[in-house]
Parts: sequence; C-alpha cells; structure tokens
Amino acid sequence: MKPPICRICDKKLVDMDDGGLIYFKKRPSDIEWEKRMEKIGGVGHPPNAEWFCKKHYNKAIKLNHLPINEALEILRS
Ligand SMILES: [Zn+2]
Repeated sequence: MKPPICRICDKKLVDMDDGGLIYFKKRPSDIEWEKRMEKIGGVGHPPNAEWFCKKHYNKAIKLNHLPINEALEILRS
C-alpha cells in the first residue's frame, strides 16, 4: 500500500478520520494486474485504488463506478 496521501491535493492522512481509500471500477489492465499479483503471490497498491482526504473523499466516492483515470480527471477539473 502507498502511504496515505490524498491523490488530488497531496494532503497527508494522519488518521483514518482524515479520509480513506477508494476502489474504482476495474479496467482490463487492473484485472491483469490482479491476476499477475495472484500468480506471483505479490502484494502491492492496486492500480484502481487511491487515497483521498476528507474533502475529496465525498466527491471521489460518488465516482467510484468509473475507472480511476476518468474519475481523477473529473475530480481535478
Ligand atoms: Zn484532498
């Protein structure tokens, strides 16, 4: 897992009340990543998951039906 830092504003999340991890819709590449990790027994930060501070979490959670790249584009605009 990546250190918890908001993907949008780089705010560091000190405790879990500061925000949270959101999983977005899996793209084909995300499913490939999962399969690869399963095969090698590896762990890592899923490419379809990101941390968000409290401020951005509420917006981001509404977009988790989208792939992460599309959701981030909307959140940054
Ligand atoms: Zn933020």
